[in-house]
Amino acid sequence: MNIVLLGPPGAGKGTQAEKLSARYGWPQIATGDILRAALSEGTGLGLEAKKYMDVGELVPDEVVEGLVEERLGRDDAREGFILDGFPRNAHQAAALDGYLSARGLSIDLVVNIVVETEVLVRRIAGRRACRQCGANYHVDFNPPAEEGLCGQCGGELYQREDDNEETVGNRLDVYLGHTEPLIEYYRPCGCLVSVDGSKSPDEVFEAITGAVEKVLVRE
Ligand code: ADP
Ligand code: ADP
Ligand code: ZN
Repeated sequence: MNIVLLGPPGAGKGTQAEKLSARYGWPQIATGDILRAALSEGTGLGLEAKKYMDVGELVPDEVVEGLVEERLGRDDAREGFILDGFPRNAHQAAALDGYLSARGLSIDLVVNIVVETEVLVRRIAGRRACRQCGANYHVDFNPPAEEGLCGQCGGELYQREDDNEETVGNRLDVYLGHTEPLIEYYRPCGCLVSVDGSKSPDEVFEAITGAVEKVLVRE
């Protein structure tokens, strides 16, 4: 099944994509993670992307679209995929549709994760990730057993450089200006479902898997 997770920064897309991938086996394709990996490897692509990520702007469409098309073409995405953080504007959505329709494929489910702004800001401010395995924590909402250490692998937890107050405001503006309009873009497909992302991660997951199961029954 081909899934798109839509939602503002901090809505829980990564958290839910990881849970969906663990349950159903479809790969999580997170453009932010791919860009951060390129950056930590010091590739030209990573350095180019950093200029935009540091200020909370979108990395140019042709860069991100190329990365996603390459990733979607791999074998493990043949049974389905979970896009997390892509598409983020109308150009990317059209590129995705073009790529899929040329292969007789389409998006089966778009999950719009709804969370109010104050909550997003708190989630982003407290977000931490493991340097080693990428596991995701929150200092208040999902703290590790030992401060600063990953409960899964013992790796060091760090705060993303763009998870600071100045950048967050811009990221939320970019979301409202460019990404939120995709809700209307996807509405006619009949595959759009909105879930209340302010609930606990397990409750949000239950709402999303409910939508997934409905599509699976239909297929
Ligand atoms: P969040 O989970 O907080 O929404 P991401 O990890 O998805 O953040 O994205 C971090 C940054 O990476 C974005 O602010 C943007 O600069 C860049 N980025 C990620 N995905 C895309 C995309 N689809 N198009 C353009 N830039 C992107
Ligand atoms: P996104 O990928 O949409 O930017 P994340 O999944 O990274 O969002 O979540 C942002 C932060 O909020 C993380 O620190 C995560 O642990 C925490 N978080 C995610 N979902 C929830 C939830 N339902 N309730 C409370 N905290 C959450
Ligand atoms: Zn870890």
